[in-house]
Amino acid sequence: MTCEWFESCPLRRLEREGKIKEKWKNNYCDTEDNFKNCIRYKMVERGEAHPDNLMPDGTKIDVS
Ligand code: SF4
Repeated sequence: MTCEWFESCPLRRLEREGKIKEKWKNNYCDTEDNFKNCIRYKMVERGEAHPDNLMPDGTKIDVS
């Protein structure tokens, strides 16, 4: 099962632009056991704002 936010997640754009590797998709977004551990997923569930450069493990990357 894939995360319900898979298509709309900003990480897809960052992947297309080559700014992040596909490890996030493979380790979180596309993995049933792990997408619920994604920080972004948890923040969406709590209705909290989260920046596009926040990775699933909570690290922030420079996408400028
Ligand atoms: S980064 Fe998190 S919220 Fe976005 S698609 Fe992946 S698992 Fe879902």
